[in-house]
Amino acid sequence: MILVNMTMNKIDISSLTPDELSETLANVFSERGLKIEKFRAKQIFAWLTSGVSSFDEMTNISKNIRTVLSECFYIALPQIEKKLVSKIDGTVKYLFRLHDGECIESVFMRYEHGNTVCISSQAGCRMGCRFCASTIAGFTRNLTPSEMLGQVIAASRDTGERVSNIVMMGIGEPLDNYDNVIKFLELVNHPDGLCIGYRHISLSTCGIVPRILELSKRNLPITLSISLHSTSQEARAHLMPIAKKYSLDELLDACRKYIADGGRRISFEYTMIEGQNDTEEDAKRLCSLLSGMLCHINFIPLNTVDGRDYRKSGKESIQKFISILEKRGFTATVRRRLGSDIDASCGQLRASKISEDEKAIADHL
Ligand code: SAH
Repeated sequence: MILVNMTMNKIDISSLTPDELSETLANVFSERGLKIEKFRAKQIFAWLTSGVSSFDEMTNISKNIRTVLSECFYIALPQIEKKLVSKIDGTVKYLFRLHDGECIESVFMRYEHGNTVCISSQAGCRMGCRFCASTIAGFTRNLTPSEMLGQVIAASRDTGERVSNIVMMGIGEPLDNYDNVIKFLELVNHPDGLCIGYRHISLSTCGIVPRILELSKRNLPITLSISLHSTSQEARAHLMPIAKKYSLDELLDACRKYIADGGRRISFEYTMIEGQNDTEEDAKRLCSLLSGMLCHINFIPLNTVDGRDYRKSGKESIQKFISILEKRGFTATVRRRLGSDIDASCGQLRASKISEDEKAIADHL
């Protein structure tokens, strides 16, 4: 069965794989007493991958077919609302507007191993992590598969560069939008589309345990990142409300199962926050928590967020922390901050756009 997203009784065409598109086209045309050749689905899929935002741009498709397409389908390509380019390293941060006016953020980064786009999976987030900007403006809705794919396509089209890696670390909790994320992964990996290998995709979660286990069963060779950020249940529940639902122990058990099922390393993210999780005791506790696990630890220097009091840990405490882990045989890296002059971590642009809009409405009243 094909799940179709409908808006104004039109079908979201870019959320369909070529096979699904072929079947849907056949149905839509036959309902009108018309026929459409099978190869059209592939042609249309290629146009959508290239980033067209209207059916009229599909110049090798006849006008008659294009008319039916625009009556029955819509193209949900995100539009650039605002764009910030870093003068330091060329990182581009986008505030995209979706077809219903919702805004989300994506970041285009250039690394030696290829261009990477960090995408959002939801408009807002309901996980409530205390240090994160994405929760500030609240949660509105899940993104469709095409809206996740569209961020990659729109960034690639705008920069004129190929994207080879994707990180799902923008606004939202991917495993809180599980089915659409799985569909997005299928679309972005499709050989007739962007064809980005699963090994070049990272998915980051705050720790929705049942979904980690479900993902584990799928055995996709993506990199799973777990936002850990604390070494005790109490401290984690304070910073990340999700820990009240799924405890640290349950989360680590799920991680061990994930590693055992797929034989793949997990990446643990640890944001160093002054006075919250950066002591020597934390470092030692982290070593015992992760002992024997096939994993990598990624330290993220805290990005200060307006309206939140947390400060990032000093360089010395970060170094000391890492050296304790390395002495015990763990591999750890500190994430390089790209786009530091444009505040490239996600959530802040959307929050300020929403408060600007609210102010404009209030001024108008
Ligand atoms: N919901 C997913 C994706 C979130 S963003 C998750 O929780 O993993 C990706 C990473 O950035 C997460 O590890 C998140 O905890 C972290 N993060 C959020 N706000 C941050 C901030 N202000 N500074 C540093 N890292 C932050």
